[in-house]
Formats: sequence, structure tokens, C-alpha cells
Amino acid sequence: AKAGGRNQYRMFDESMRNQREEELQLLSDLREALRCGHILPHYQPRYSPTAQRAIAVEALARWNHPERGLILPSEFIPISEKSGLINQIGATILEQAVRQRCEWARQGLDVSVSINVSQRQLCDLDFAGMVQRVLEDHGCDPKRLELEITETLLIESNPVVSANLAKIRELGIRLAIDDFGTGYSNIARLNEMSVDCIKIDRGLMQGLPRNEEIVRLVIAMCNFMQVTIVAEGIETLEMAEWAQRNGCHELQGYFYSAPVSAEEVECLIQGQVAA
Ligand code: C2E
Ligand code: CA
Ligand code: CA
Ligand code: CA
Repeated sequence: AKAGGRNQYRMFDESMRNQREEELQLLSDLREALRCGHILPHYQPRYSPTAQRAIAVEALARWNHPERGLILPSEFIPISEKSGLINQIGATILEQAVRQRCEWARQGLDVSVSINVSQRQLCDLDFAGMVQRVLEDHGCDPKRLELEITETLLIESNPVVSANLAKIRELGIRLAIDDFGTGYSNIARLNEMSVDCIKIDRGLMQGLPRNEEIVRLVIAMCNFMQVTIVAEGIETLEMAEWAQRNGCHELQGYFYSAPVSAEEVECLIQGQVAA
């Protein structure tokens, strides 16, 4: 039994080492991908029932791998957050999305862009300054950019995060709370931060109609804070109608479109404008 135990320990040790090696390989591949411009945003529309078209798009990172094709964020965002590489990934997504937004604006297509920002990025002293430079470089209206953060970031009292968020607000950039309704919500703090937009978590929306009362309550809280309400994860006509009937301002989900390339989302929105 003793020898077996030791063997098991050695096997565990070895699998840990293999995992570590795989992670290192993945990180070096990612750095290479960043250098080659293989990390790019796809865009998912946010549909406004009032405007009857998508008025905003969310940029979602994709790794365009030469052999493996498109790789989704779940395979590379967690390790990027752990290693700090998320700062470079976030910067390239922001830069490309802002450039794209300005190109669309020049063509007469007015769509806002929203970008996901992780904790690691907001802990960078220069984050808000970097965002400001990107906006200036492209002559982008700050009101057409929205940053999506999770509510835990607001509750946490990190002075660098607070300074970045204050500067973001000062610049006139919009702030959205992502995945709302999943964790512990500090309504007082949210209200005090005067966020512009709240995105109701996909999981919560997909619990409909079973959890109708809860979602209505969440919507009531959002109305109290006078924010734009986005319903995430809308997959069916029934869900779209429910969300609209219950006062959600923008709807996002596979029912409208999955995240797609810049060209595809442009076609989609042009079609809606023409209709
Ligand atoms: P998220 O910000 O909550 O983004 C929404 C995710 O839900 C996206 O997955 C999207 O494809 C998916 N989704 C949208 N509509 C539907 C639907 O109707 N049904 C279902 N089942 N799923 C839907 P994706 O693109 O794989 O991104 C996953 C997460 O990775 C994002 O969740 C976000 O937290 C993170 N992420 C993506 N891009 C970036 C980035 O540039 N920076 C950072 N920091 N995080 C990112
Ligand atoms: Ca998001
Ligand atoms: Ca979300
Ligand atoms: Ca998220």
C-alpha cells in the first residue's frame, strides 16, 4: 500500500508538471498570436426594440489560430488573466473595436461598442490613460464606448481600480455591469457609482419563466437606478417578447445573432437599417 501511495504521488506530481508545461506552451503561443495579430474581436449585436435595429455591439475576443481555427475565450482568457497577458489582449481588442466603430461611423453607421474589462486591467495604473489615448488616436466619441465590468470590482476597495473608474467616468465613457444578478449585489454601491447600464445575466434570463418573479425584481432594481437594461442570452422569440414586455431596453443573444466577424455584423445591421 505504501509503494502504491508513493507511485500515486509521483503520478500526481508528473501530471502537475505536464499541466504546467502545457500552460507555458499555451502562453508562448498566445504571445506569438498577439505579435501576429491573431487575436481579434468578433461582435455580437445588442438589439433595441425601439430603434428596431442593433444600436450597439459587444466585442468578444477570438483567437484566429492558423491550424485550429477560431478559439473561444474560455480556452485563453482565464490563463491570460492569471499571467497578466490579459492587459495586452484587452488593449488590442479595445484598439481594433474603437477603430472599427470609427470606420462604421464614417460610413454613416452609428453603433456603440462595448468591451469586456477584467480586474487585472483595472489594476494597471495606466489603464484609463491608455483608453483615453486610443479614443483620441481614432477621434472616437467617448460616449460611444462602454466598458463592461463585473460588480465585484465596484465593491472591492482597491485605490487603483477606483482611480481608473473615476477617470473613465470623467472621460464620459459609459460603464456597464456585466452578468448582473449572479452574485451578491451591493445596490447602494452600484447606485453611488452611477453606472449607465446593467446587463442581466444570461443564466438568470434562461431560468425564465420559472424565475419570472426574480427577474422582474432585478428589472425593478435597474429601473430604480435609472440605467439602460440589457437582457443577455435571448435565444427564443418567447424570451425576446418577455424581455421587451417587461421593460428591457436592449436584447442580446443567439435569437438575434451569435458573435460574428466585423463584416458579418456590419451586413446584419445595414440590413436592419434598410428595412
Ligand atoms: P460575457 O462577457 O458574459 O459574454 C457573453 C458570452 O455569452 C459570449 O461568450 C457569447 O458568445 C455568449 N452568448 C451570447 N448570447 C448567447 C446566447 O443566446 N446563448 C448562449 N448560450 N450564449 C450566448 P464568449 O464569446 O465565449 O465569451 C465568454 C466570456 O469571455 C465573456 O463572457 C467574457 O467574460 C470573456 N471575454 C470575451 N472577450 C473578452 C475580452 O476581450 N476581454 C476580457 N477581459 N474578457 C473577455
Ligand atoms: Ca460581457
Ligand atoms: Ca455577460
Ligand atoms: Ca463575464
